[in-house]
Amino acid sequence: MKKKQVLSADEYVDGIKSGDRFILSRAITLIESNKAEHRQLAQEILTKCQDNSQTSFRVGITGSPGVGKSTFIEKLGSNLIERGHRIAVLTIDPSSQVTKGSILGDKTRMNILSASENAFVRPSPSSGTLGGVARNTRETIILCEAAGYDMVFVETVGVGQSEIAVHYMTDLFLLLLLPGAGDELQGIKKGVVEMADLLIVNKSDGDREKLAELTRRSYVNALRLFPLKNKDNRPDVYTCSAISGKGVPDVIDALEAYTKQTDVIHHKRLKQDKYWLRQSIESALIASFFDQPSLQEELAKEEKCIMEGKTSPFLAAERLLKLFAKGSK
Ligand code: GDP
Repeated sequence: MKKKQVLSADEYVDGIKSGDRFILSRAITLIESNKAEHRQLAQEILTKCQDNSQTSFRVGITGSPGVGKSTFIEKLGSNLIERGHRIAVLTIDPSSQVTKGSILGDKTRMNILSASENAFVRPSPSSGTLGGVARNTRETIILCEAAGYDMVFVETVGVGQSEIAVHYMTDLFLLLLLPGAGDELQGIKKGVVEMADLLIVNKSDGDREKLAELTRRSYVNALRLFPLKNKDNRPDVYTCSAISGKGVPDVIDALEAYTKQTDVIHHKRLKQDKYWLRQSIESALIASFFDQPSLQEELAKEEKCIMEGKTSPFLAAERLLKLFAKGSK
């Protein structure tokens, strides 16, 4: 097929469903495009690919830079493929939006998976707001599922806001930790530990094996102090070595056991849809507020008043929001 050939939505859908990775990549590029006609075509493709029959399992993976995420996904993915799974790996890399550099993407990552027929690895887009990238990733998940990938991994760095987004788009949220250091030292925020369904102390090999086990136990103890929230069980804590592969089969057994909890997954996905509905409304409202030139003038005036001590931010916000509500009637 020629590169620039224009395809119809149906041709995209047929290509995706028949496992054509080139067409899948092109469809994802449409999702990521800022051009209105691309996005419209992407929405048509998505509607035709959407399938609520829950044929796949979505796993979020986070952890500080250097903890071993890509090595772990490479090992885990290879093992899963051996067990007959087809896996997709997507990344949300918040650093690339801020610095135009990247914590996740610069390295050569996941060579084995990238070369495998049964894996699809797609790096994070290099531009866009977190909200935009999160939306793109959720839509990309749907296309990957339509293409027959039954395990979809979404990887992110556990240092920003992106892990909240990943938590709300996956069925299971996995946190990778290092042996020894407490979470503050690892740059992991408490909220991220609370979101995790499964904690894994990686690099449990060589002389760090004992330390990894101690770290595992101290997390088990720490988790006892956390409120249970909606989960029936406390999260499990495992040790593994992404290099040697020791402990990885246990993680896979745990993942496969989770995939069988179809009611739990179904319920979780419905709750996530509610979350994304609200998120979409919030971001659309914010965008339409800041898109109105007249409001921008008023905003500048209010900011000046605040600087001169003539009004409070709350009064100013109230006035601006009233103007906004009037304008949008
Ligand atoms: P990421 O930034 O979290 O994706 O981490 P990488 O997968 O790039 O790994 C960072 C470094 O840790 C690399 O040098 C890996 O070879 C090393 N590494 C990853 N997993 C393990 C492990 O289980 N044991 C040991 N000893 N090193 C590991």
